[in-house]
Amino acid sequence: MPEKILFKYIDEPGQDTIKVYMKNGGYTALPKVLKEYTPDQVTDIVKESGLRGRGGAGFPAGVKWSFVPKDSPKPKYLLINADESEPGTFKDRQLLERDPHQLIEGSIIAAYAVQAHTGFIYIRGEFGYGAKQLLRALSEAEEKNFLGKNILGSGYDLTIHLHRGGGAYICGEETALMESIEGRRGLSRVRPPYPAIVGLYGCPTVINNVETLSNVPHIINKGAEWFASMGTRKSTGTKIFSLSGQVKRPGNYELPMGISLRELIYEYGGGIFEDRELKAVIPGGSSTPILTPDKLDVKLDFESVVEAGSMLGSAGVIVMDETTCMVNVAWRLTRFYQHESCGKCTPCREGTYWMLKILERIENGKGESGDVELLLDICNYIEGYTVCPLGDAAVPAVRSTIEHFQEEYDYHIRNKTCMVKGKPVFK
Ligand code: SF4
Repeated sequence: MPEKILFKYIDEPGQDTIKVYMKNGGYTALPKVLKEYTPDQVTDIVKESGLRGRGGAGFPAGVKWSFVPKDSPKPKYLLINADESEPGTFKDRQLLERDPHQLIEGSIIAAYAVQAHTGFIYIRGEFGYGAKQLLRALSEAEEKNFLGKNILGSGYDLTIHLHRGGGAYICGEETALMESIEGRRGLSRVRPPYPAIVGLYGCPTVINNVETLSNVPHIINKGAEWFASMGTRKSTGTKIFSLSGQVKRPGNYELPMGISLRELIYEYGGGIFEDRELKAVIPGGSSTPILTPDKLDVKLDFESVVEAGSMLGSAGVIVMDETTCMVNVAWRLTRFYQHESCGKCTPCREGTYWMLKILERIENGKGESGDVELLLDICNYIEGYTVCPLGDAAVPAVRSTIEHFQEEYDYHIRNKTCMVKGKPVFK
């Protein structure tokens, strides 16, 4: 089995407590950082490791930290994005529920690197147990003086607050998340300016995802070279793949970046449910284009998945077998994006609404000739014309299912029934 970093102790009873976390080597990176490294040195180590954001965009974490202006007189903030809500992705939840101190230690080190004295963990509203776990872990860390004033006698102060969201997908987008913390409705801000310069309360802000920050203590302890030796040259380290859908063994798998889609599905996932034929895979959460079985040997790293025509995104791998109706897939995912559109910009608000209407009528046996072209036309008017990435995220489910399975749309429209199920699948 490949080496595990983040999930090494995930199944050990008590790993969520500070006692067991410390027994397993936890909170050894933090004293080392505070004693031996300047904030810039920490940033450089993370840069050299090649660690890239695990929330979806894959931006290098150390580079992001280096954008925070050192000479700004304003306070700086660290935001920990625990608003995991991309359909098909469920790894951050497991990390924060079962190994919360790993995340907290990584967050303290990141805050030190950018010299933030206040941090916020923004956790999605539905994660009630996760919020409870984090609150307990934060108070355990405070008791040991890993948080609070003059941490371990270093003169560095840090407070981390837990902020529970209201369950809106848009609040996982970094600027909407900041609006939400500031007490307003979660609506995205226009960028630039970027959060590193004008972020929370108009101050320099770094925002990282749970999985990203959880890697940081290990990089400090074992070195940038060790981390960079795993995965591929440009996508270093391991990745937690959330495998779901019609596979025999769904779950979270921590594997080196660059493992093939075939290995993930057939070796780790045990193959397709009831040994059926594989039909399509969403490789990076619901906002990424589907891949067809001819792409099974694609390496799961940021670059290779793009070359194959999709994105690694949050690595939520959704497997669909031969019994799946692709029009139904597009309808279900569009329903999600239409519901979650914050409504701020017209292409996303209206585009997702009309795409849903059209998909509903196709599913209902009331599709008309020209509907497929109309759907593609709407996709073109959404993509690239919205304030935040949620608009773009709504497009792949429709466009990629048409691209690869247009015959199913045509069959639905022509025969008023489903090509796969042999009957209307909706209603
Ligand atoms: Fe809101 Fe959608 Fe526009 Fe994002 S793209 S700002 S979610 S309406």
